[in-house]
Amino acid sequence: MAVRRPSLALRLGTRTLGVLLVNGPQASGRRRRVAILGSTGSIGVSTLKVIESLPERLEVFALCAHSRWEGLLQQARRTHPRYIALTDPRAADAMARQALPDGTQLLTDDAVGTMVRHPDVDVVLTAIVGAAGLAGTWLALDAGKTVAVANKETLVMAGPLVLDLARRKGARILPVDSEHSAIFQALHAGQPGEIERIVLTASGGPFRGRTRSELTNVTPAQALKHPTWNMGPKITIDSATLMNKALEMIEARWLFDLKPGQIQVIIHPESIIHSFVEFTDGSILAQLSPPDMCLPIQYALTYPERVSGPAKRLCWEELRSLNFQQPDLETFPALQLGYEVARRGGTCGAVLNAANEAAVGAFLEGNLPFLDIPRVCREVLDSHHYSERPTLSELHTLDRWSRQEVLRWITTMASSPNR
Ligand code: NAD
Ligand code: MG
Repeated sequence: MAVRRPSLALRLGTRTLGVLLVNGPQASGRRRRVAILGSTGSIGVSTLKVIESLPERLEVFALCAHSRWEGLLQQARRTHPRYIALTDPRAADAMARQALPDGTQLLTDDAVGTMVRHPDVDVVLTAIVGAAGLAGTWLALDAGKTVAVANKETLVMAGPLVLDLARRKGARILPVDSEHSAIFQALHAGQPGEIERIVLTASGGPFRGRTRSELTNVTPAQALKHPTWNMGPKITIDSATLMNKALEMIEARWLFDLKPGQIQVIIHPESIIHSFVEFTDGSILAQLSPPDMCLPIQYALTYPERVSGPAKRLCWEELRSLNFQQPDLETFPALQLGYEVARRGGTCGAVLNAANEAAVGAFLEGNLPFLDIPRVCREVLDSHHYSERPTLSELHTLDRWSRQEVLRWITTMASSPNR
């Protein structure tokens, strides 16, 4: 019989976050079974690396991707999941004609729901990019699962509703975003009521130190060259505009139940310190490691235990200095949007998130200048009908509206004679 060990709970404000009973699967000797939503992306691939490095602790239960069926098939042949799924029906049709590994089933109807609700799933890792990630995260929380959330847009869009669902269903949310994982780890050193502030670190992206005028004509190829992290295209552009940090402020506000004034940002080009927690007595705790998502992913999957895994190690012999700068709010106005949306809450997160997704898409297609990404987000945010306590359905409606507004704005600007 499994020995019941105490549960480790971090009570954050009125919420309980990251509660994972230690007498779960691992303590009883069974491997934790993981469902990955977004397995073919940057986070998905790192998650598989972690799972395959810890075969005695973790196993792949289900994999879901959007359209890259060849990549998903390769992953399935390597890891033998029980289920796989593709959310793009044309890709699912193409995949259905291929030979699947023995024991693996391609789900089509209610695929994500079937995967995440399955009683054998211990952890769902949500690594779909953008607002599209909300549905799967929601289903997993609704099923009362432990959810390792990489998809920050879910929390930006609907943080209070998502956390309320987790509380009602007894589900657990564990952060995967490196800054939030760092905060979560540092918070173990104190009580929730003892937090003075958190300070999110930002690399500054590829355009750190540039002026606004130097950014007028930057191309997608230039913006996609991140100095420290290797990530999917959307988050890489978000890092170049610093919108990623804005989204992370909002994510932190809901996840850790903080007041907006308790969240600060500092530029740290080396990306070794992943964030700070300052406690009421003035003591500051940080989490350090080289920039490698394997570590926060592994921490979420093996929590609360720490084991040796595939994450890069800090080379102390090579370490010289860790630098900090204040963020340049004039060149990177997205940060200001983050502070504002974190403060106002309500419908603002969904509107900002959708406007940004549409703007980033337009920039990558060459239809929107780089500096217009935060500009159009500001316009759309300012023109929406604010409501303090929106329903999920209202947020979905506003998500669609914001995307249309961005397209309308781009069309209007393109035909403007002053452009
Ligand atoms: P990515 O573009 O590399 O991968 C996205 C994944 O989502 C792919 O597997 C793709 O098939 C799937 N996907 C895309 N659209 C979909 C849709 N409509 N429906 C279902 N699946 C869809 O992205 P990424 O860099 O891995 O980022 C994933 C998430 O993790 C984002 O929310 C990002 O902000 C967050 N995140 C990423 C990193 C990182 O280092 N990459 C770090 C922190 C947080
Ligand atoms: Mg991050």
